[in-house]
Parts: sequence; C-alpha cells; structure tokens
Amino acid sequence: MPQIKPDSTIKEYQQFVHEVYGLQNARYFSLQDMLNNIERFTTRALKGIRKGDAQKTKLNLMISLSWFISMMNQLHIDIEEEVWKRFPYMCSYCAHCPCVCKAKKIQARQKVVIDNKKRPVTMEDFQKMFSNIYPASTRTLDHAGVHLAEEMGEIAESILIYRGSHQDEGFKNVILECADFISCLMGVCNSLEINLAKEISKEFSQNCHVCKKAPCQCNFAQIMQFKS
Ligand SMILES: [Zn+2]
Ligand SMILES: [Zn+2]
Repeated sequence: MPQIKPDSTIKEYQQFVHEVYGLQNARYFSLQDMLNNIERFTTRALKGIRKGDAQKTKLNLMISLSWFISMMNQLHIDIEEEVWKRFPYMCSYCAHCPCVCKAKKIQARQKVVIDNKKRPVTMEDFQKMFSNIYPASTRTLDHAGVHLAEEMGEIAESILIYRGSHQDEGFKNVILECADFISCLMGVCNSLEINLAKEISKEFSQNCHVCKKAPCQCNFAQIMQFKS
C-alpha cells in the first residue's frame, strides 16, 4: 500500500501519485487535460487568496500539485531532480541565497553552481530551502499568488510550443518551467505558513483523498465534479 508521510521526499510523493492515480490518469486524461486540471485548481487556490480563505487556498494547492505531479509522471520528468538542478540552494536567476534580483537589479541570468552537499532531502526540506532563497517577508501573499499564476501560464506556453514542434529544446524548456512552478507553489505555502508535506500526508493519508482507494477508483464524472 503506498503511503505519504510528513517526511516523504518529492520522489516518494511522485511515486505515490503514480500508484494511486496512474491508472485513471492513463485511461481518462491526455497531457492537455492534465494541464487544464492544474489550471483549474491553481486558479481556485488564487481565488482563496483573493477571498482571504487560507483553507481554500491550501486544499486547492494540494489538488493542483497532485495534477501537476501526474503530468510529471506522464512526461517521465523526475521533478525533484529538476528542481534541485534549477534551484541548487540559490535563486535560479541571480544565483544567490537569499535572492538579490531586486536589490541588485540583476539584468542577466547568472550561472548556478550545484553543491550536492546542500541538497534538501525531504519535501519539507525543499520548502524550507525556498523559504531561505525567497523569504516570505520580502513580498506579499498577493505577490506570491501573481507569480504562481505567471508560472502556470509559462508552463502552458512551453507545452503549447513543445507540442507544436516536438523538439528536445522545447522539452527542456517545459522542464525548467515546471521547476519554476514548484518554487512558486511552495512560495505561496511559505507566505501562508503552510507545511505542504504535512498537509499532503493528512489529506492523502488513505490513498485517493476522495475514494480512499489505491489505485483510485473514482470514475470520470466523480473526478470532474470534485469541488474544493
Ligand atoms: Zn534572484
Ligand atoms: Zn479516487
């Protein structure tokens, strides 16, 4: 029986999503469908920010992330590895921790240097890393939400381009945008002081959070009618 715990790694979480949702995802959802679902639930999370409803934001971020990880499985992207390569305990743009992009008005992307000794282990550690690179105190919650929306749009754009050309360069870009999306999703969690791994382990403590089965046995209508 797959299990997700507060100290699970992102890799373990990705495997959990595969075991619980892999079957229904393969039968029901194309890449485009998954992208639409990521957008559906991310925008609901943003609505929670606008309404000052942290609970709504929290639940929808978790569902959005679940769809996102399903998409990573479909594309065979090891997202933990890619997040680490993009953000090796430093900002992917200015290559500093904490980020100095704004303070130093950095105009060009700097080369990041990977020191594997600093690599976070658990999902919680990754969230802490993002809190150190991009401290919540340096921006508002609204700002973090706008940035998440921006990254969601950039994933959609990169997938649109990749599907049009099927070129390796385009796929590499999809991977980079996906890593950016995780950084912003964890950024919103940091602004709201949500421990994402802990909340996921609660919500998904018994496999699928709706039908409680592994693999999930929700039918298509049940999945599409899920409201949060
Ligand atoms: Zn920076
Ligand atoms: Zn289910």
